[in-house]
Amino acid sequence: MPLNVYAWQQPLFRSLLGNREKLPHALLLKGKSGTGKLHFAQSLARALLCESPRMDGSACLSCTACNWFDHGIHPDFRLLEPEIDENGKKAAQITIDQVRSLVSFMNMTTHRNGYRIVLIHPADAMNVHSANALLKTLEEPHGKTLFVLVTHKQQALLPTISSRCRIISMPFPRREEALAWLKEKGIAGSFLAESGNAPLAALDLAGRDRTLLDHVLEKLGNPASLDAVELAEICQKTPLPEFISWLQKWCHDLASQAFAGKIRYFPALSDRINAVSGRADKIELLKLIRKLSQAQRISSHPVNARLFIEELVLNYRNMAGR
Ligand SMILES: [Zn+2]
Repeated sequence: MPLNVYAWQQPLFRSLLGNREKLPHALLLKGKSGTGKLHFAQSLARALLCESPRMDGSACLSCTACNWFDHGIHPDFRLLEPEIDENGKKAAQITIDQVRSLVSFMNMTTHRNGYRIVLIHPADAMNVHSANALLKTLEEPHGKTLFVLVTHKQQALLPTISSRCRIISMPFPRREEALAWLKEKGIAGSFLAESGNAPLAALDLAGRDRTLLDHVLEKLGNPASLDAVELAEICQKTPLPEFISWLQKWCHDLASQAFAGKIRYFPALSDRINAVSGRADKIELLKLIRKLSQAQRISSHPVNARLFIEELVLNYRNMAGR
């Protein structure tokens, strides 16, 4: 994957590299999902490991270190992320064994006499045990070591971890900037709204098969005839966090239309949203929105997806299908 520092991240990138002697041992990059934080962290690591950086501090892209980095084999760099099993399924957590495997890495002298960099993504995937194991290393940093933690859920990190990092709020593109970036890639602006103004998430959305989402939106748009059992049957194979996020976005639009006359995620469906929103029980709608965010928090735990979806859809129908 080509590494990118996006236009909206350039000032921060230059400022960090321009003051590289003042870099702490640990950075925590926090910010909205789908805005390029991981690419930024990788680009920063590559620039710091580069052996003949450009005047502005960015990587030369042609030295041995840059080549190694781009092939994923730089010996002084480690990426810690949830492991992928033989079926291609990503684990939910970064395990304590993964964190412990850093110990020998931390104790070796660096191969190229420069930085030693550990990138943890997403940092919120560490459970209490792995986070505690990491704490020890964060407390006793070795020489030129840099930890870069990336998260869009800082509240899910142990405060003892956050407090040992310099926290950086990652920049977010202005709407025009994000639209221009998508236009360059030939992506319609409507995806930006649907992604909540996160351009990389919009790019991802644009590349996906929308058949199921469109079907779900059509059903939600006609709540009186909505069959919860049938919809749960159809959607039970969809990752639960994804299904819940569809419902969250749709309900957000219903509420936002009712209270502020604005639609954020699905402006192309404004007629349906307007009709459903007009008839919905507003108190129940707000309750459902709260319930959905609770559901989202536990959605990566193992649950019976079909029953879970069925209950949420029933709640929705009771609220909207009067
Ligand atoms: Zn280089």
